[in-house]
Amino acid sequence: MKKIGLYIHVPFCVRKCHYCDFVSFPYRQDMVQNYLKGLQKELDLYHQLLAETRVNTIYFGGGTPSCLSQRELSALFALLNRHAKAEPSAEVSVECNPGTISPEKLREMKAAGVNRISLGVQALQDEHLYRLGRTHKSMEVYESHDLIRQAGFQNVNFDLMFALPGQTLKQWATTLTDTIELGPEHISTYNLVFEKGTRFYQWREDGLLSTPDEELDLAMYQLALDMLPPAGYRQYEISSFAPKGWECRHNLTYWYNEPYLGLGPGAHSYDGKTRWANDESLTRYLSTLEQGRTPIVNQEKLTIELEQSETVILGLRTREGIDRRRFQKRFQRDLCSLYADSIDKLVQQGLLKITPRRMQLTAKGLLFANRVFIEFLPT
Ligand code: SF4
Repeated sequence: MKKIGLYIHVPFCVRKCHYCDFVSFPYRQDMVQNYLKGLQKELDLYHQLLAETRVNTIYFGGGTPSCLSQRELSALFALLNRHAKAEPSAEVSVECNPGTISPEKLREMKAAGVNRISLGVQALQDEHLYRLGRTHKSMEVYESHDLIRQAGFQNVNFDLMFALPGQTLKQWATTLTDTIELGPEHISTYNLVFEKGTRFYQWREDGLLSTPDEELDLAMYQLALDMLPPAGYRQYEISSFAPKGWECRHNLTYWYNEPYLGLGPGAHSYDGKTRWANDESLTRYLSTLEQGRTPIVNQEKLTIELEQSETVILGLRTREGIDRRRFQKRFQRDLCSLYADSIDKLVQQGLLKITPRRMQLTAKGLLFANRVFIEFLPT
């Protein structure tokens, strides 16, 4: 029996953040009802596959799943419980945003088997939260964290962002210090990316936003590398920090390039050979399901070269890197012979390290990971 990670995309938010290019729409009760009906149909279409599969992680992402009402959350979890049997030891995560949770919603999550909460903190200064277009203030981070702990959750992630417009190194240090003091089990840090089509992208084009230069961006990343490990947060992936045993198992599925099924508008899936994506339009997602078809818009059968390349690029994101024997077993090819030229070059540049067992990014490679990844793209 195969094992997979299951991702459920809940595409609703209180309102759109200025930098966001995720598939998300402003919350509307009638749209949530339609979405739940669509999801039910999509789950029906995958019934057979789910019956033959062991689900060892479930991730409710978004969007903001926690902006659903308690009743809607209850309906969502009931749907999932009917169709997918999670293993008793499964990691079940829900993304929540400060200010959108209540003791009742958290109780609902707990009763449904949710055991990990990922909180979209982003920053702890109101000026930055406001500029990002977030709906919460820093005080609500503390209140939400208290509620989550009172509800009995023992596995909490904080999502943080750096390289924000106008953000100083000192402010980033304060965000890290205050986060460490609160003591979530997991911390994710991402630098702000100006995605085409977002308000931030347009404002930067129009010269309305000043952004940290590359040097400051790197200094902020380096600060996280300097501050988090001594506080007990081991870096296990480029952007992820946690004590041993508290790594996000769902995300490890992606980095190990293992199969996952994504449901909901815009969700992506991969079965080990083929990857596909759902329609991002909620209207089309629903109408396709109404006609009894899966709402897939892009499907690509991976060549062996692409599969190998993605396994390397994703695996290098982790600090443990690629297990050479595992690679050999999966592809019947020796990693170091397959990419001999690229590996030689990157090792000489001090970006990559080879041991008899593994291939990993060096400390310098971590800072310039994209330069490394490019070398492993198929020609
Ligand atoms: S809360 Fe997250 S998904 Fe929703 S609009 Fe903001 S960044 Fe996008």
